[in-house]
Amino acid sequence: MRLSHKGQFFFTILASKILSLNKVLLFLLLLSSEIIYSQNDSVSITKYAIPSHFESFISMMDSSVKNAFVFCVNTTDSIVVLTFDDGPLAMTKNITDTLKQYKCPAAFFVITKNISEKNVSYYLDTLFTLSIHGYTHSNYTKLSYNEVEKEIKGSKDILLENGITPKYFRPPYGAFDCKTVKIMQDYQLKGILWNIDSYDWNGYAGEKLVDRVLKYTVPGSIVLFHERIHTEDLKKIIIGLRSMGYRMVSLDELLQYPACPPP
Ligand SMILES: [Zn+2]
Repeated sequence: MRLSHKGQFFFTILASKILSLNKVLLFLLLLSSEIIYSQNDSVSITKYAIPSHFESFISMMDSSVKNAFVFCVNTTDSIVVLTFDDGPLAMTKNITDTLKQYKCPAAFFVITKNISEKNVSYYLDTLFTLSIHGYTHSNYTKLSYNEVEKEIKGSKDILLENGITPKYFRPPYGAFDCKTVKIMQDYQLKGILWNIDSYDWNGYAGEKLVDRVLKYTVPGSIVLFHERIHTEDLKKIIIGLRSMGYRMVSLDELLQYPACPPP
């Protein structure tokens, strides 16, 4: 078939339109697959930022046991809970003063044998939730039923004597088993773990610590710290999270949302 000059011109225009339409379609296809990929990527990689040995410990656990604990919640609201373990310690007052200065809610899981009338007063603020870590810092999977019960009951009694009714419990090392769950529930405690480990126990401090927390926090996160964190790092984390649109909330508020699936 032969085309006139005019025909050739229209054919060229038509061909180029089809070509550019294909380009647009190809571009859209690539874009959508990129969006899907990055969404999957963000869910699978950033939901849990915990050491691999802890992740495998939890993933091997029976669901009926691990579901007794909240690791994080499912929400698109930019909310996060900062949690602090192992206190009271020398840094407690500095940490609670910093949190009060920034009006930042927080949850503390304490070692109750170290509680005194003086140090317990640092935690007495409407911003804070005081809960049980243990009477001592023991691995409950290595203790007998009676020993674990003594730890949890003893801790609850000490907090009650100080006018605090604990609602939450976090086992030392995040180590638990069926008996721990049974005893925890017998004493009306809700298990709380975490999905973001700040690694402050692992030598992380300064920029390395701050960057890690800001990088991995996702909406609905529970972040693990210890009462050894430097207040300068804590301030940077509070300011950083707020500048990213996050609101630090209490455990009570976070738990209004459904728990996210455990590892
Ligand atoms: Zn601990």
